[in-house]
Amino acid sequence: MAEYSITAEDVKRVKGMGFLQDKRQPTHFNARVITKNGKITAEQFRVIADASEKYGSGEVAMTVRLTVEIQGVPYDQIEPLCQYLAEHGLSTGGTGKKVRPVVSCKGTTCQYGLIDTYALSEKIHVRFYEGMHGVTLPHKFKIAVGGCPNNCVKPDLNDVGVIGQRIPTVYLDRCRGCKKCQVVLSCPIKTAFLEGGKIQIPAEECNHCGRCFGKCPFGAVTDYQNGYKIYLGGRWGKRVAQGRAMSKIFTSEEEVLQVIERAICLFRDEGIEGERFSDTVARLGFEAVEQKLTQ
Ligand code: SF4
Ligand code: SF4
Ligand code: SF4
Repeated sequence: MAEYSITAEDVKRVKGMGFLQDKRQPTHFNARVITKNGKITAEQFRVIADASEKYGSGEVAMTVRLTVEIQGVPYDQIEPLCQYLAEHGLSTGGTGKKVRPVVSCKGTTCQYGLIDTYALSEKIHVRFYEGMHGVTLPHKFKIAVGGCPNNCVKPDLNDVGVIGQRIPTVYLDRCRGCKKCQVVLSCPIKTAFLEGGKIQIPAEECNHCGRCFGKCPFGAVTDYQNGYKIYLGGRWGKRVAQGRAMSKIFTSEEEVLQVIERAICLFRDEGIEGERFSDTVARLGFEAVEQKLTQ
């Protein structure tokens, strides 16, 4: 064990760099390595593994928000570790009253994924995690991107959550009232039904999962609008708030990025020190916030 003591100021300083004190041995820290969108190359994995053997305890742990922790780094090895990671294009961080590393589900490759979650998350990472790194906010700000309404990454429990959408259009005149309607059978939430021999998809119940896509052999449900739903003001932790969906379904990545940018700026400008974005949204009113983010 290293023979030195560390001040509270040191602990705070390195926490800001992504090094979290190990409560079992206060001179050692766990280094939070940023993965951008939760996907890293084999080479980056090797670098992290090597770094853990060289500078840490030889252990690596996954965090619940898709960063990787190199365990047991002695305080005096923090700088050399940072340098080693930087030489291989990696960095530590992800703490403080800032935009936190984005969490993405594997929608890009998942059979249910409706959007390229890895690509969108990487753009969010570059533009807001890296691009707004110097911006101090009233509290942490968490963003999650999910590929479909299965909500594996719980986007609605983040400050901002994005979910891929595929919205069906119904052509009643083409519907033949089949005995076994393939659309009804394919709907996982049992919202589609036949009424008077015609397919019905209640707009307020359909979650836009797109699972009925391509199922109707007669073209009654063939056209789909692809898009993104955005939730605002969710949180999970000491206090819980479920985010509320914006009324508009956005149709381009650029629109989504714009809304996220405006949400972060609104939080920076109108949030009260110490409050989460959910409090800001509740205080200002959801409709007013929604209008500000889309005008
Ligand atoms: S949210 Fe949907 S796309 Fe993402 S991992 Fe879950 S099932 Fe797949
Ligand atoms: S939606 Fe298609 S499969 Fe379903 S009843 Fe109508 S025509 Fe048949
Ligand atoms: S989009 Fe999903 S929820 Fe909506 S009708 Fe089709 S299968 Fe059902």
